[in-house]
Amino acid sequence: MIGTDLYATLEDLGKRLYVEAQIDIPPDVRAALRRAAAQDSSQTARGIISTILRAIDVSDRKQTLVCQDTGIPIFWITIGSGFAVDGARMEEALTRGVARATTECSLRSSIVSPISRENRQTSTGEGIPVFHVEFSGAIDHLEIVMMPKGSGSESMSFLKMLTPAEGLAGVKRFVLETCVGAGGRPCPPTIVGVGIGGSADLCMLLAKKATLRPVGERHPDPQTAALERELLDAINATGLGPMGLGGDTTALDLHIETAWTHITLNPVAVSMQCWRGERRRARISRDGHVEVGY
Ligand code: SF4
Repeated sequence: MIGTDLYATLEDLGKRLYVEAQIDIPPDVRAALRRAAAQDSSQTARGIISTILRAIDVSDRKQTLVCQDTGIPIFWITIGSGFAVDGARMEEALTRGVARATTECSLRSSIVSPISRENRQTSTGEGIPVFHVEFSGAIDHLEIVMMPKGSGSESMSFLKMLTPAEGLAGVKRFVLETCVGAGGRPCPPTIVGVGIGGSADLCMLLAKKATLRPVGERHPDPQTAALERELLDAINATGLGPMGLGGDTTALDLHIETAWTHITLNPVAVSMQCWRGERRRARISRDGHVEVGY
């Protein structure tokens, strides 16, 4: 398959991942919502989450979108060691796939020019889809994760270049203030991504990447994992709750990604994913085998 067929496969995958990510909520997100529906101490919160679960059920039965917002299509790509791919052709193929998904499946195209507000009705445009490409020596396949990012949660994205003197206490304060300040706008319960360190651009990227991690999965570093638990508990203790209407479940989870930074900097960023927690993953082996999952 490696050769011209690879790009046909990538185009089909671009279409499939963009559609399926919006129809099929990942199992870890469903399980967290079910737990919250059973355990939240607020009757209003339990009612809201039960309604969300009913929306997911309808989507499962009718194979329709869980929410009308098709979002900004974002691809996270990891190219494994020895996997031969032409990067430009890969991006073109995935872009064609997103455009086909939009026209062939009658999806709302949510993408416009920031200047003219032109909408090409393809969910694509200059710079969109967004591609984040990494290389890994730990795998030998190509991994593609699609994250359609709804505007409600994306509009609640924040970065602050703290000073080292503000320390971890400043980081915690910023995360809590942004989550409380966001209120119901990111459609909570959210998956909160926190980036700590790096440069300004890397910090924001880390925060968004953190929202991709499955609900319930902790950071491998014990100190960072403890900070994740502490911040998650603190956010849920605010009582903001689902849709900002009160309850114990403001966030389903909180993930942190870190990078080392400059001696005079202490950057922190917050990115939120709404309750849909959408992501769809594909793995293409070097022999051409394709697996699709979460
Ligand atoms: S934030 Fe999520 S649930 Fe809310 S409208 Fe946007 S896509 Fe839908």
